[in-house]
Amino acid sequence: MKNIVHAYAGSPLDRAGTKRPDVNWIMKQIEASNARFLPFSDLSVLISETESAPDRLLWLSGADISGNNIADLGKALFLGLDDQGAAKFAVQLDPDKDWSDLGTIIDLRSLALNGTIAPGELAIAGQAKSMLDWHKQHGFCARCGTADHISDGGYKRTCPNCERMHFPRVDPVAIMIVTRGDKCLLGRSPHFVPGMYSSLAGFMEPGESIEETVRREVMEEVGIETGYVKYHSSQPWPFASSIMIGCIAEALSDEITIDPKEIEAARWFTRDELQLMRERRHPEEFTIPFHFAIARHLIKAFLDG
Ligand SMILES: [Zn+2]
Repeated sequence: MKNIVHAYAGSPLDRAGTKRPDVNWIMKQIEASNARFLPFSDLSVLISETESAPDRLLWLSGADISGNNIADLGKALFLGLDDQGAAKFAVQLDPDKDWSDLGTIIDLRSLALNGTIAPGELAIAGQAKSMLDWHKQHGFCARCGTADHISDGGYKRTCPNCERMHFPRVDPVAIMIVTRGDKCLLGRSPHFVPGMYSSLAGFMEPGESIEETVRREVMEEVGIETGYVKYHSSQPWPFASSIMIGCIAEALSDEITIDPKEIEAARWFTRDELQLMRERRHPEEFTIPFHFAIARHLIKAFLDG
């Protein structure tokens, strides 16, 4: 039995973790004629769209980039090697310039929602976005405040003053459906599209196991005690850089008491109702999240027993 590969996961690239700390190796990859660079404007990626091949990442050569003064190759972030051994990088464009002649600028949620990009390319774009975002926010050493610099191809920033190393962060989020017999509890945040119900979720805190986060979040958001917590699957979520840890928790009680600061509604749904929501046929027009969200797959796991 294979694990589910969610949207934004399943990159085909080899991250070359043992090679990329060598700055000479990285420079050689940047200068190689087969190296390709993925441009981002702010945190949206550039794609090319043709009728025969919709939504493909716009990979530029080093000559394209430096010949047209598109970006600083010295700040390119290494993403990995493709199956031909060619290096792939992410680069940041000047957000104050108009890049619409170069390609279509699209945010990663819309790109996933369109559903026409190859899953491996979506994963690469997600990796690139999370990395660019982290570098954008971490120009200075958190210990001494000195401007720090990219090292390890981008998987580190090093402070030239105190030599402290800083690593790109990934924020773990527990995301869970709560079940009790034939029913499943879902909730709504105020920012959801009308009618949509989804799994509860919350950031893990220091000193917590995944199952403890699940039990605490469910208690805080809907006032329900949960017992056994089962791990389902996980999904990298590039907004900004989370890992969604999907779980199914067994409720020990029924009565819902929502925390209105966290969610606006929560309720139990039967399997029949969820099936209608999945098919967008629910009489009250309730729905569940889109195909690219792990929440949908947790609900599907419950429906499939
Ligand atoms: Zn420092």
